[in-house]
Amino acid sequence: MKTIRLPIAVNKIISRLEHAGFEAYAVGGCVRDSLLKRNPDDWDITTSAKPAEVKKLFRRTIDTGIAHGTVTVLMSGEDTLLTGERGYEVTTYRIDGEYLDGRHPSSVTFTPSLHEDLARRDFTINAMAYNDRTGVIDDFGGMEDLEQKIIRAVGDPEQRFTEDALRMLRALRFSAQLNFTIDPDTYQAIRKLAPNLSHVSKERIQTELTKLLMSDHPDHIALVSASDLAPYIAAHFDEAFDVPSELAAPSPYIRQWMPDGLPGEKYLRWGTFLRGVPVDAGRILRELRMDNDTIKKAKIIAALFQEDLPENMYEIRKILSVIGYEAYGAFLDADECLCRDVFGEESAFRVEKIHTVRKHIQAIREAGDCISLKELAVKGQDLIEAGIPKGPAVGEMLHRLLEDVLRVPSHNTREILMAIARP
Ligand code: ATP
Ligand code: MG
Repeated sequence: MKTIRLPIAVNKIISRLEHAGFEAYAVGGCVRDSLLKRNPDDWDITTSAKPAEVKKLFRRTIDTGIAHGTVTVLMSGEDTLLTGERGYEVTTYRIDGEYLDGRHPSSVTFTPSLHEDLARRDFTINAMAYNDRTGVIDDFGGMEDLEQKIIRAVGDPEQRFTEDALRMLRALRFSAQLNFTIDPDTYQAIRKLAPNLSHVSKERIQTELTKLLMSDHPDHIALVSASDLAPYIAAHFDEAFDVPSELAAPSPYIRQWMPDGLPGEKYLRWGTFLRGVPVDAGRILRELRMDNDTIKKAKIIAALFQEDLPENMYEIRKILSVIGYEAYGAFLDADECLCRDVFGEESAFRVEKIHTVRKHIQAIREAGDCISLKELAVKGQDLIEAGIPKGPAVGEMLHRLLEDVLRVPSHNTREILMAIARP
């Protein structure tokens, strides 16, 4: 019997439910990840107990989604060496009602059957349950699919994607996180039902795409285009895949647009992906309800890919003044990954240039050169006292001074800058 080491708190929850006469199991992603020897993010529990019964058995609970059968049970983290409490979602066995809008089940019905609860889940690898008494409950061949590295819908894929179109993107996302392939029938159903994705909210789409791009195999993003989902993500999204053919290396999935080894920043993953559509990058991310900080940085990253590498110290300081050390360093790392992964041997020249830029950045940092208004030796107040009228003129002058200092760092003294600024 295959065993999984459940956290002490999870075992406690399961035992308490069992002692009260109910069934209870760890279920879904945590079982999948444990079997893959990956660390589960969170532990979900499925039980025959109704929410009110769960609440009676535990001292501290939160009504997370009573209507859907979910109660969060708070347990102290003695097995994680954490001092605080941790929440575990305990959800009653349920069958999802009809999905009238392809988004939300119109109702949920509780069921006494674990099998039925597993049957409503999206993929075979996500439809396994476990406790120490029974071992793994695997009614849909999830173990075998884990071994074969296959994402396969539970039941009839067309029906399952018609119920909830987000599952199509989830299939791609899991394929990227786990480096699995999508079963041919499941994949065909995605291609057929791709237009249904237009019913899904942009936030949910963005969450899945971000997880895909942040995974160890972001090149699976190419599946979004290959499966015909791209036109239903956002306006102009599909153009992100229109890469000049000389830049497109062959790969298992049409082409490799995202290199291996990219730094794990969200803005960088998105900016790199959208480098073919720098003008639309901001609009696409806004439509997908991305946060403003990520949009701002991703736009700059996408644009940087279009430009030649800087030739001199001034150009480097200028870029640093716009995006800062961290993001520019991440961009150079991404550019280098791309050179090695996508462009091939002939990119050695560009890699050398990247190394030179990094050396210059290091020198700029060590010299403590001013690269932002914050570090400028004069402030707005100094300019006003020197007679520059309050208002936009002050900001304009500060930027002019910064521009001067970016060219000649030794100008960053009060005397020199005030001499330049005095009307
Ligand atoms: P992770 O949390 O690592 O992203 P996960 O498998 O835990 O992966 P969740 O979104 O947390 O994914 O969902 C938990 C479980 O609920 C899944 O494993 C699956 O069994 C089920 N599930 C989640 N979303 C859906 C859905 N849209 N349709 C069917 N079942 C789903
Ligand atoms: Mg989860």
